[in-house]
Amino acid sequence: MPMKILVLNAGSSSQKSCLYELADDRLPALPPEPLWEAKVDWTHQQGFAEIEIATARGDRVQTEIQTSDRPAVMAQMIETLWNGPTRVLENPAEIVVVGHRVVHGGAAYRDSVLITPAVKAAIADLAAFAPVHNPANLEGIEAIEQSLGAIPQVAVFDTAFHAHLSPQVATYPLPYEWLEQGIRRYGFHGISHRYCAQRAAQLLNRKLTSLRLIICHLGNGCSLTAVRDGISVETTMGFTPLEGLMMGSRCGSIDPGILLHLLRQEQYSVEQLDQVLNKGSGLLGVSGVSADLRQIEQAIADGHTRAQLALDIYLHRLRAAIAALLPGLGGLDALVFTAGVGENSARVRAAACEGLGFLGLKIDPQQNQSRPLDQDIATADSPVRVLVIHTQEDWAIAQDCWHLRSTFQYRNG
Ligand code: ADP
Repeated sequence: MPMKILVLNAGSSSQKSCLYELADDRLPALPPEPLWEAKVDWTHQQGFAEIEIATARGDRVQTEIQTSDRPAVMAQMIETLWNGPTRVLENPAEIVVVGHRVVHGGAAYRDSVLITPAVKAAIADLAAFAPVHNPANLEGIEAIEQSLGAIPQVAVFDTAFHAHLSPQVATYPLPYEWLEQGIRRYGFHGISHRYCAQRAAQLLNRKLTSLRLIICHLGNGCSLTAVRDGISVETTMGFTPLEGLMMGSRCGSIDPGILLHLLRQEQYSVEQLDQVLNKGSGLLGVSGVSADLRQIEQAIADGHTRAQLALDIYLHRLRAAIAALLPGLGGLDALVFTAGVGENSARVRAAACEGLGFLGLKIDPQQNQSRPLDQDIATADSPVRVLVIHTQEDWAIAQDCWHLRSTFQYRNG
């Protein structure tokens, strides 16, 4: 019997959703094409939401709604599954489970779980640590309760893959009482890092437990994860997604003394600091051009020196962070690039690999330029493989729902 699984991936500025159909007795080796995909963009224009729906049969609908009522927009988006030109279901009861990406699961959630009132309460409590993302994730869960009633829902946490970080990796050198209040390193992008680790093993035809990997998730947000024996042993994001690499508009790691200076001398408020560090730093802050690497590259071609400086810092920090993960792994079998920048920028991949020549790592320039996806771009004689993997977080969420199917009652509508 086929199972229809709806996946919701809520971010601060957009809400992506898709519907998969899977056989209930086995998973396909490769991600299948979703039957229906939707994206709501909350940032398109103030007071408006833009909804885009596409189906596997090729129907496309784009609408703009004048409202800031997010639950109402989500209800409308979900209804397009069984109503209107993008209808793919006879009946909403055909959906057997809904999987959600939940950004923060704290230290308690090490695996995906069926959502219960206690899980919802934990997600709400953790909003203190993830004030933008966890409330958006809860909103998605509640929108489903409104539209589909008491359907099983599964939370897939971005922090879960990093739940096995050792105490010396997870603990900040701060007063111990702060650790007891939950101030520790959690790590993020875990759904993507876990998917890429599994896909890397598949592409290399090796057991994941035999591999030492560094995964570079380079999108708007950027993080690295070192994977040994199939487990995340170190990652660059920490208590929040601000730590680690320089990103599109986030600063990454900086001297906390800068914040003390701004609070003391410049009377910055908490909100102003939050805004600058998350939305006005990184490639955007340094260049003054954009958080989007494509526009930075264009500006560099036009001779923009601050854009060049921004990219130079980005690459310097990326190389330094890759190097910092090597001792914990004791070697490297494959370096993996994923997400918007990692999948598309041959320049960033080449520059990241340049610093690793001492490991014998060598990429094939032609392969690197050939828009590779799910491919090995290292030369035949390179002892370290270099993979470009298209990350598929939604598919990873759908697979977790499928694995949990024995924990909930379902019947096919
Ligand atoms: P998110 O972190 O929001 O999921 P993505 O993984 O989609 O983001 O990455 C978005 C970023 O990817 C863009 O801001 C842009 O910098 C980068 N990107 C996308 N396509 C290209 C490309 N062809 N060349 C360079 N960078 C690209």
